Amino acid sequence: MVPWLRLHVSNVCNFRCPQCHVFQLSDNVYPSKIMPLPVMTTALDQYTRWLFSLGERRTLVNLYGGEPLINRRNILDLIRQAGRELNGVQIHWSMNSNGSLLKEQDVRELMAYNLDFHISCDGPEAIHNQSRPGLNASKGTFSKVIEALELLRRLGAWRQITTYCSPINYLHLKELVDIAAAHEIPRIYLDIFHSPDGAFPPDLPRLYLEAYRHARAKGVKMIGPWSSIFLLGTLRSTEEPFRSPSIEVNVDGTFYSSNLPLTRGKSNPPVQELLRYVTSPEYQRTIAEGLHYYAQKCDGCELETACRGKAIRQFQYHLGQEEGYENSCAFTRGWIRNLSTDVMFRKHLTLQEKQRFPFA
Ligand code: SF4
Repeated sequence: MVPWLRLHVSNVCNFRCPQCHVFQLSDNVYPSKIMPLPVMTTALDQYTRWLFSLGERRTLVNLYGGEPLINRRNILDLIRQAGRELNGVQIHWSMNSNGSLLKEQDVRELMAYNLDFHISCDGPEAIHNQSRPGLNASKGTFSKVIEALELLRRLGAWRQITTYCSPINYLHLKELVDIAAAHEIPRIYLDIFHSPDGAFPPDLPRLYLEAYRHARAKGVKMIGPWSSIFLLGTLRSTEEPFRSPSIEVNVDGTFYSSNLPLTRGKSNPPVQELLRYVTSPEYQRTIAEGLHYYAQKCDGCELETACRGKAIRQFQYHLGQEEGYENSCAFTRGWIRNLSTDVMFRKHLTLQEKQRFPFA
């Protein structure tokens, strides 16, 4: 697994989707709204130096929000300064965006750094607009997303549609594949099903599998957190999940390990202390506590050695709440079981994962 650094460069967005976890945060949690450039450069410098000392030579750096392009000037400066390699570590850049603020000139510049554009699209127009209504709900945001997808297609940028499966869109996954195919989007990142309130639809794993097969027929790659769960399960990997830990930097410049349980709102150290902290006994203790947390939660689960809490983490991350993850786990178990019935799946998925990143 390639370790990754996620920078929450903006805590504001011009869409304000009702389900987005960013808007469930009160100003008391993160009073900052925009990440300053020195926080970004310090985080990246310390993180890459740490990776180098661990023997890692590649990393994924993801720009995340809110909408990252609200902090456009700083992220452009960061990428210009850091380039494609820093402190001996090769960087693969990506950005999760709603697409509405993309400008051709910026796309052209970012393409020179191989930035991978991850554009949110949840389904066909009516479904997407229900999920992401924007400030003018009667108009919706779908047309803006399609404009962005077309811009990226025309310029030949690295690109994917990013979405998560929810009670709003789970019946429309094949239509989402059709949108990707129509706009020549080579990949869909489909997150695990999240439903904090509703029941888990029993036929959901079948719908995922149908969508996956539909994507394969249309030449669209479909990936998600379930890809690595499946591959880890079938490969019977014993890889230590925190060996090369990934780091999440909050908009206020504090950070935590992405593999740990929800820490939002808890006190985290500032990135200026990243190198000191990750080599301290305190960090080792925190990691041990995280492992213990998931070991307890996942004890006896059929995916215990493959998933290791990932379904819980995905739920907590997207919903911003600690409890209520049982539906995500039930879905993940059902989906992974269903995947095992697709004889082409493992081979196909292994190939997809290999082709996912533009590393030399
Ligand atoms: S499905 Fe849930 S309980 Fe099972 S291993 Fe994954 S996170 Fe743990």
